[in-house]
Amino acid sequence: MLKIKNIYFPSNMREAITMLKKKKSIFIAGSTFSFKALPQDIEDVVLSKKIKLNYIKKDSKNLVIGSLATFNDIENDKYCKTLFGGSLSMSASQCSSQLIRNMATIGGNIAHTNAFNIWPVMLTMLNSKVKIITLKGEKTALYKDLYKLGFIFGRNALIKEIMIPLEYSKDNFYFHKVSKIKSSWDSYLTAAFRSKIKDGKIKDIKLVFGAVRALPYENIEIEKDLLNHEITDDLIKETAERYSSGILSINPNAKINKYRSQLAGNLVSYYLNYIRR
Ligand SMILES: Cc1cc2nc3c(=O)[nH]c(=O)nc-3n(C[C@H](O)[C@H](O)[C@H](O)COP(=O)(O)OP(=O)(O)OC[C@H]3O[C@@H](n4cnc5c(N)ncnc54)[C@H](O)[C@@H]3O)c2cc1C
Repeated sequence: MLKIKNIYFPSNMREAITMLKKKKSIFIAGSTFSFKALPQDIEDVVLSKKIKLNYIKKDSKNLVIGSLATFNDIENDKYCKTLFGGSLSMSASQCSSQLIRNMATIGGNIAHTNAFNIWPVMLTMLNSKVKIITLKGEKTALYKDLYKLGFIFGRNALIKEIMIPLEYSKDNFYFHKVSKIKSSWDSYLTAAFRSKIKDGKIKDIKLVFGAVRALPYENIEIEKDLLNHEITDDLIKETAERYSSGILSINPNAKINKYRSQLAGNLVSYYLNYIRR
């Protein structure tokens, strides 16, 4: 049985973090995850309701998304619809139902690792940074290093903003969530790809897969090998096979993983063919 004694409504993240000083306290944003996963011993709940942190704006270098922006905010935002090939808006739109998209926040989505969450895949593909608030002050980290920092998000640290470098805003993007039904959480495989081509050669590339393990799958070695190469039939075949076997190696005995591995190879092949034109 839950033992909640107090509910707090801070007006900003700094106030919220001081309220989390007490050991048995937790921060709740959209509540789509925590309504079923609230630790039993929690006594103080710190709600985000009064905190204005759902902005999406540009600064000189980044698209800056407040951590309380919902999937619906992102889906309908003018920058998310137009920059980065519209992939932010499109990926948000393909999650769950309108009801969940109205509530679920990007901060809550990346606070804990989960194979099926969409934002870890997108933020890895976009080399994003995250601004964090702790009792000691603010800190900025690369998204991919977030879980190495040793914080328990929502308990002793809060996510304030996500920063996506605008230098990628005109790259070639591809997003595909392969699932039983279009807006299902339960995806077989999620692919988020980005690349820059100049004079027929690959100048930058990031190929990221979700739904295969707790953290997104990326292969920096393959990405490095692709740089400064023209895209030939042989390169496409070899790269598709490398991704296919990389995904398979995560869990070689699982039947579903054999399907995912074939799918990953096919999607890589499709994308490389598409960007060489
Ligand atoms: C039916 C259903 C379908 C779903 N479908 C999808 C889907 O298709 N794709 C997908 O990606 N996700 C999906 N989800 C997952 C879920 O909606 C997300 O993970 C959501 O983004 C969590 O955000 P929230 O604001 O609801 O978090 P909450 O439930 O409020 O919090 C979740 C956890 O994160 C912590 N937290 C929240 N905000 C912050 C912050 N700013 N800083 C630090 N810690 C924080 C909380 O303390 C808590 O531990 C689905 C969920 C449901 C219930």
